[in-house]
Amino acid sequence: MFTEAQFESAVARLLRLTTLEPGDTPHARFLVDYTSIPAGYGEYFRESGCQSNNTAGILDILGFYRASDKTIVLFAKAIKDCASRLDAREDDLRTIVIYHEVAHMVTHLGHGHGAEIWNSFSEASINQIEFYAQIYSYFALELIDRADLVHLLNELANRSPSPYQSYLRAIPCPVELVNGLLNADRGGAKLECVMSQSIAKDLSSALSNLMGKIDHGSPISVQDLHELELKAPQIDGDGALRVGNLPVSVAIIERVRRAKDGI
Ligand SMILES: [Zn+2]
Repeated sequence: MFTEAQFESAVARLLRLTTLEPGDTPHARFLVDYTSIPAGYGEYFRESGCQSNNTAGILDILGFYRASDKTIVLFAKAIKDCASRLDAREDDLRTIVIYHEVAHMVTHLGHGHGAEIWNSFSEASINQIEFYAQIYSYFALELIDRADLVHLLNELANRSPSPYQSYLRAIPCPVELVNGLLNADRGGAKLECVMSQSIAKDLSSALSNLMGKIDHGSPISVQDLHELELKAPQIDGDGALRVGNLPVSVAIIERVRRAKDGI
């Protein structure tokens, strides 16, 4: 059963993740349509393996965000039907649809540091818009420790057109990096990467730790490699890069940027 509180907690979590201010988001309308079956829904399930040839992914068929009047609509009947076809819990599917649509709304209407919204939201590419809706849904579900919902989100993505899947190529990545890209797409400052002496030092200690393990024939753990990846600079470069206060490698920045632009 849908409650207004689900909507509000999704808004609060996504605002925290994006570091945007509420702005007009509390005034957005949230409607549940209990009777209609949305356009494109039947078609989605007629395709073999539930793949859709539509430009809209299943999440934007089960619900939608309409930027022109700041409205989110959920199709309760189709969500129930879809959940049973996918052998998923109706509540879980509804939660994911809510996160996806609220992520559209928050990235559009949330206020940046200068109280600006995403003014060119309507002209942004489907790759950009869906990348942010999906990756912030992913971050939010990870944050509430719902691996089962992350799994369902990923499964729905794999049944949807490529702009809905691109976040899968971007993760794992720090949310600060995605925030930097979003800020740039919203018309703010370009993502700033700052070289840092202290990060270069961190990196060199992570590297020597790894080299020591190799020298002693000790096993290299996934954590060792992950630590190195997060701190790794360009191989021929002169230090790690920083996004905000976070060390992020050039390779990660490029991977996320390319996923976001659908390249
Ligand atoms: Zn969408």
